[in-house]
Amino acid sequence: MSTQQQATSVTSAPREVQEFLRSAPAHLVGGTKRPSGSGEEIEVVDPSTGDVISHIARGRSEDVDAAVQAADSALRSSSWTKVSPATRESLMHRLATLIDENIETLAFLESLDNGMPLPLAHNLDIAGAADVLRYMAGWPTKIAGRTMAFESPFGNRVMGQTRREPVGVVGGIIPWNVPFMLAIWKVAPALAAGCTIVLKPAEDTSLTALFLGDLVLDAGFPPGVVNIVTGTGPEAGQPLIEHPLVSKVFFTGSTTTGIAVGRAAASHTKPVSLELGGKSPTIIFADADLEAAAAGAAEAIFLNSGQICVAGSRLYVQKKAYDDIVNRVASLASKHVLGNSLDPATTLGPVISRRHKERVDGYIDAAESDGAELISSHSIPEQGFFVAPTIVTGAEHGAAITQEEVFGPVLSVYPFDDETDVLQAANGTPYGLAATVWTSSLGHAEAMIDGLECGKVSVNSPGFPYPGLPEGGKKASGYGRDLGPESLDGYLHSKTVIFERS
Ligand code: NAD
Repeated sequence: MSTQQQATSVTSAPREVQEFLRSAPAHLVGGTKRPSGSGEEIEVVDPSTGDVISHIARGRSEDVDAAVQAADSALRSSSWTKVSPATRESLMHRLATLIDENIETLAFLESLDNGMPLPLAHNLDIAGAADVLRYMAGWPTKIAGRTMAFESPFGNRVMGQTRREPVGVVGGIIPWNVPFMLAIWKVAPALAAGCTIVLKPAEDTSLTALFLGDLVLDAGFPPGVVNIVTGTGPEAGQPLIEHPLVSKVFFTGSTTTGIAVGRAAASHTKPVSLELGGKSPTIIFADADLEAAAAGAAEAIFLNSGQICVAGSRLYVQKKAYDDIVNRVASLASKHVLGNSLDPATTLGPVISRRHKERVDGYIDAAESDGAELISSHSIPEQGFFVAPTIVTGAEHGAAITQEEVFGPVLSVYPFDDETDVLQAANGTPYGLAATVWTSSLGHAEAMIDGLECGKVSVNSPGFPYPGLPEGGKKASGYGRDLGPESLDGYLHSKTVIFERS
């Protein structure tokens, strides 16, 4: 059955998907499937229907310990340490090819598990992940240190060099919003650097990470190089951070959890990379191509139902174009088709869970009670966890809807006068992840690029991630970097070596 013809239920899912959903809940530890020590499981819920579609293993410290021990053994084993950089590269390419070959199954699983529309799962999440793997596969053969000659205090000639070594066993903890892509953003640089990894996917979306585990073994990576433990943050994430054999933690998730992760890592003098939340502004100057800018602003907040870390959740429009842009964005919002993520007609799927829907609805209700106006023209499907695309106007700068990450299809819009005015407003939240600027003036673009306090500025572009360019933030959005050589650096340790003729 082709992806386009698939029906919207698990019972009519492709055979591979059904088999995978029926497989016994297990972690991937040292190349083998292993149920939780406690035998406990977590329900997997389809957010489009609220139905339980499968179960995953509920990991605890004993499971994490087994996975870390396996990763540590693999790190010391010649079956990984003696693998040449060129062979690491070809293993990574083989894994990327296996992802391509299984893209229909992976996309179906992701759409079912996360609620993202199937084409988004296919084209952005899974295909994008394979691209990142291929990009990172180019690095093992290019990792190199420096060499220099100098004179010792006693006049001897000294040769100094730096060697770049894998940091060791790394722990990867990821969220549920673009699950497969974010898994690869941690696994790919770890493999390129020669590390071994224990990955803990989000408890709401572990299916594609587990499928990835199978592909890693099929690709021929030695057992223990990639391990996957499923479970909740406190039960499986926390022990991973605290495990003495884990050299570094790479965390992507909310700022609140990131602060707790940073604290836990600091008490073990363990380095941590934090990729956290955002409250990213889209800024439209009146001289912009208003049609393209409105389309960009709408996509920035409605893609994946606003559950994107760089979602453009605040829209600043220069006063002259304000009414025009609000009308255009409202019209684009009204055209979205809410529905089951597997239905080809759907353009806006559910949010991840009932709890998250209640959280997003809470922000909308609070904005209305505070006197803001709502523009929303959709009725919500009866089943599943849906939030209608909503535009909020008239919210105060200090309101929760302006200052806090909502992580739903909710856009607040504000008028501005000039560059100074908009920079002050755009920088006026705790976050600093990304920003998008729409203008035909090079002067406005330069002023925004210079003045915006964030990790990434896109000009007249939706600013999709590219494998060679780093993604990450400032301020409460964290300080880690995914993608690009900057990401790889985080998985490498520099060792200084000095040779002196005896
Ligand atoms: P979350 O912080 O609730 O959870 C993220 C992960 O941390 C999950 O795997 C969870 O189980 C784990 N976790 C929770 N508590 C933990 C603890 N005490 N110790 C260890 N692990 C723990 O985030 P979420 O709700 O799953 O994801 C949404 C958030 O992720 C949003 O804030 C979004 O902006 C952010 N995000 C950021 C980026 C980025 O690159 N900056 C990318 C994607 C998502």
